[in-house]
Amino acid sequence: MALEHQSRLQRSILVVERDSSLQYSATKASNNCMRQQFATKINVEIAQYAADFVKRFGNYFGSDPCVPNPPIRDFGYLYLSDSKDFTQVLEKDQQLQSQLGAGTQILSGKTVKEKYPFFHTDDLDSASLNTKDEGCFNALGMVEWMRSASCENGVEYVSNEVVNLFVVNDQVEAIELRDGQKIRASKIVNAAGTRASQVASLAGIELPVEARRRYTYIFSVERPLEQDLPLTIDPSGVHFRSYTENDYLVGCPPIEPDVAVDVNDFTFAEDAWKEKIFPIISARIPQFSTARITNSWMGHYEFNTFDHNAIVGPHSNIDNFLFCVGFSGHGSQQAPACGRGIAELIVYGVFKTLDLSALSYDRIPRGLPLLERAVI
Ligand SMILES: Cc1cc2nc3c(=O)[nH]c(=O)nc-3n(C[C@H](O)[C@H](O)[C@H](O)COP(=O)(O)OP(=O)(O)OC[C@H]3O[C@@H](n4cnc5c(N)ncnc54)[C@H](O)[C@@H]3O)c2cc1C
Repeated sequence: MALEHQSRLQRSILVVERDSSLQYSATKASNNCMRQQFATKINVEIAQYAADFVKRFGNYFGSDPCVPNPPIRDFGYLYLSDSKDFTQVLEKDQQLQSQLGAGTQILSGKTVKEKYPFFHTDDLDSASLNTKDEGCFNALGMVEWMRSASCENGVEYVSNEVVNLFVVNDQVEAIELRDGQKIRASKIVNAAGTRASQVASLAGIELPVEARRRYTYIFSVERPLEQDLPLTIDPSGVHFRSYTENDYLVGCPPIEPDVAVDVNDFTFAEDAWKEKIFPIISARIPQFSTARITNSWMGHYEFNTFDHNAIVGPHSNIDNFLFCVGFSGHGSQQAPACGRGIAELIVYGVFKTLDLSALSYDRIPRGLPLLERAVI
């Protein structure tokens, strides 16, 4: 939760974080990838902004030699299609992405085999691939740097929990923290991840955001591939990619129905590796038949059930209560554009860098979803 509140001298910013280790946040669980292969214009533009932001990250910190300037490891995203219907979807999305300047190409199964000989491709109809500014980046490292740099520049962080919001005449006037402190604020940003709907309900607002399980496994193989593995989205929904030099990351949604779970429940409800992942990855890449798990974690998507897209901007009636939530699995890459957008709304009252109004809260009460088909 971030607040803009009045201090003695000037406007100030307070960030309230219930767990400053971020241990159970979506940010900590992220697979840290970015792509421009989205199906909505705004998401492609946000991804392009993210790529630019990551590449210039060090520049935002002046001459500090310690600031990481992490590259995007652009092995690309590779969507595999095993049907004519899905190929048509990929082609339609490629046209949009290409109009916006993204380098997505549609490949035949044969071309996939030529470029990446380790794949089994007999069942494939086509694939889409972009290796420019798509891949993984050090999202968590950037969050840590932003946190320490903002502290040095006067932003205050408190380790506490927002437990109440005081709404008077359609304005949130103050928040209450777990230890009973009440703090007045002129603007309040709900950036509470999987708990966003819980925080919104403190102001009597229903928000269609819920926690959904997502599994991640890191594995090694006896004989690593001779080239980077793009983030490959198998037709089954399992996705896998190069992790470090010689090992790999694989992720997937639950085998059981993908439903809301308790925000505190981080158990593995099923053996996704054995029942789903291993059979799929070893069939797609026979060299992976020696795969051995070296690490795994279960994280929660902050899933927007209304249209799988972020909600960015003020509530329709309580206009000093802003949202930056509901990223549905792509918040690491959307943080730069959406964070900046929220800052612009607070400082200028309008979006300046990128018009994010397509992601406004208002689309929810108006029943106008901005459906993002390309969800992983
Ligand atoms: C397994 C997995 C893989 C992913 N892979 C990718 C990827 O490859 N690329 C990508 O772009 N995105 C990915 N994501 C999504 C991305 O991680 C999230 O969208 C993003 O991190 C959301 O950030 P956030 O700050 O909104 O939420 P969070 O990181 O969850 O942060 C919310 C914070 O709010 C705090 N909080 C909650 N309630 C309160 C309260 N009442 N008071 C005070 N503090 C509170 C919490 O403690 C938490 O730290 C992935 C997510 C998961 C789970």
